[in-house]
Amino acid sequence: MKNALLLTRPCPCGSGQPYSACCRPWHKGQAAETAEQLMRSRYAAYALTLPDYLIATTHPDSPHWETDQGTWRRGLQQFSRETKFVGLTILQATETGDTATVTFSAALTQNGRDASIFEQSLFERVNGRWLYVKAMNNEQ
Ligand SMILES: [Zn+2]
Repeated sequence: MKNALLLTRPCPCGSGQPYSACCRPWHKGQAAETAEQLMRSRYAAYALTLPDYLIATTHPDSPHWETDQGTWRRGLQQFSRETKFVGLTILQATETGDTATVTFSAALTQNGRDASIFEQSLFERVNGRWLYVKAMNNEQ
C-alpha cells in the first residue's frame, strides 16, 4: 500500500476529507463516536481491503459472524478485490441509547456491472464501541 499517498487522498467513504483526518483513526483502533462514523469506516475498510477491521466491528450476534475467521477474512478480501467502491451516501442516521440505524446507498460495481446496495443497517454499542449487527430491510 502506498501509505503517504493514501493518507492525503480523499477518504473512500466519500466525506471529502483526507483519509488521515476521516476514517483512519477508527481503522487504527480509536472507537468511532457515532454509528454513522462506524458505517463510513466500514465502507472505507471494504474499499481499502481491511478485513480485520470489518471482523472487529461486527457484532458477535450478527448473522454475518463466522467462527472460522480465516475463511471469513478470505471472503472479505475476495469481495474487496472483486468490487469497485464508487461512493457512499448516508441517507439517514438515528441513535437511541446503544442502538442505532443508518440508512445508506453504496455505489459498487463488480466486473463492470452495477452491484450497488441500499440498506438500513442496525448497529449496537457494546463496551463503548459501535458494532454492525445486520441489514434490516432485506431479511434473509
Ligand atoms: Zn472516511
